[in-house]
Amino acid sequence: MADLLRLVEVVPGVWVAHSRRYLTTSTVLLDGQGGALVIDPAWDPDELAAIPADLAALGVRCVAGLSTHVHYDHVMWHPDLGEVPRWATRGTVEMVDADRDAVVAPLHRDLPDDLVDLAARDLRPIDGELLEWSGPTAVVHVHHAHAPHHLALELPDLGVVVAGDMLSDVEIPMPDGGDTDLVTYRAGLESLRDVVGRSRLLVPGHGQVSHRPLERYDADARYLDDVVRTGASDDPRIALDGMPELHAANLERARATRV
Ligand SMILES: [Zn+2]
Repeated sequence: MADLLRLVEVVPGVWVAHSRRYLTTSTVLLDGQGGALVIDPAWDPDELAAIPADLAALGVRCVAGLSTHVHYDHVMWHPDLGEVPRWATRGTVEMVDADRDAVVAPLHRDLPDDLVDLAARDLRPIDGELLEWSGPTAVVHVHHAHAPHHLALELPDLGVVVAGDMLSDVEIPMPDGGDTDLVTYRAGLESLRDVVGRSRLLVPGHGQVSHRPLERYDADARYLDDVVRTGASDDPRIALDGMPELHAANLERARATRV
């Protein structure tokens, strides 16, 4: 087998790659029959092109795509991944249908027009709680914490949860812009508690995978508790790039719950 360009196997059948931008995670699930589900491929053109190249090196082909949520860095694609079903939650598809141009607009900074044109294109709503694909059972858990209609994909037979932009080691909780008091965020986070608790591996949308998923959950729950109850947090992630601004915004949201 040729050396892989990006993908690293984290448990049998689950491969990830990290972008140079914000450690954004591309996740590949193998179906065991020569097919691959590609989740949130990202980000620069060479990085996107490396994913189908790596699939070819693994002797598999992309059979489906999935976007965990509506944000521009989770709806990219590459022509060599092929014209396959690309799934998202029904609410995500509706948000894209309502204003696709706004969803993909930030990508014009980073991608040529042909790749922007493929982003958030022809997304297909997931019907029901189980992903209809040929691989391991994949359960869709929808919540509204980081973005409306965000999904976490649980692979119960593998003990894996693909969390999208939740439960990161490089980002504190990042609520949707419409979340003014962290209540929606907390509800979404708490909806994942049991999923995280029974999973052995967590794949976040940004940052490193964790073999102790509950520690990620506890860190985010503690952060929310601290900012709401005391208006302060000693979470070390606050010092990371871009996080002081987000932390300040979260403190503002927390204040709304106290007045
Ligand atoms: Zn996001």
